[in-house]
Amino acid sequence: MATLMFVLAHPDDESFGAGGTIARYARRGHRVVLVCATRGEAGKCGDPPLCRQEELGEVRERELRAAAEVLGISRVEFLGYRDKEVLLANPAEIVGKIVQLLKEERPEALVTFGPDGISGHVDHRAISHFATLAFWSLPEEERPARLYYYAWEQGVREHLQLRQALPSLPVTTVLDVGEWVEVKKQALLCHRTQHLSLERVFFSLTEEQLQKALSKEGFHRVWPVWTGGEKERGILNNK
Ligand SMILES: [Zn+2]
Repeated sequence: MATLMFVLAHPDDESFGAGGTIARYARRGHRVVLVCATRGEAGKCGDPPLCRQEELGEVRERELRAAAEVLGISRVEFLGYRDKEVLLANPAEIVGKIVQLLKEERPEALVTFGPDGISGHVDHRAISHFATLAFWSLPEEERPARLYYYAWEQGVREHLQLRQALPSLPVTTVLDVGEWVEVKKQALLCHRTQHLSLERVFFSLTEEQLQKALSKEGFHRVWPVWTGGEKERGILNNK
């Protein structure tokens, strides 16, 4: 069985972008490790607020651990940076922390944001950069075999009315996660303080639209370099 590592910025990035993928591989017996750069302490507390702003980091850590339990994530590690400040991290320090985790876990695949950050959030773009640097700084024998970025089809972006800060890399890999939509929904709902963005992105859709939006997850394969052809159906050697 393989290990998959996700290196993301905030609690909820895992469920939004890859909840179905994580559930699918975890249920098949693979080990899934999530590395989260911040505790999301600069996010919203909900309306009406579920906690005070100064408590938000702690609350969102608990929300993430609950979502991880639902999805079947084996290990959650926080890198300890502040929300909205990932770009200000000491590059050698943050890359070093990710490298250390890659050496410990030896994942077959590493998944992070692409340079567009999906929503364009500066933390998403920063963690993409640092995770990519960590990947390439390892010697080949220690490097994960595969590197992926989150990548959403144009149709999904339009559907979700995502503003696009930077051009996106093409979707090379699409996972059908229809079987895991209910698990993904349950994981999303663990992020209770984030109900406003959940409602905006997903839960304002009709049941049919929601099913469609949640049942496919897309990625861009960075390494090995994608040379075209039919899209992959999985991120572990097409499984
Ligand atoms: Zn985020």
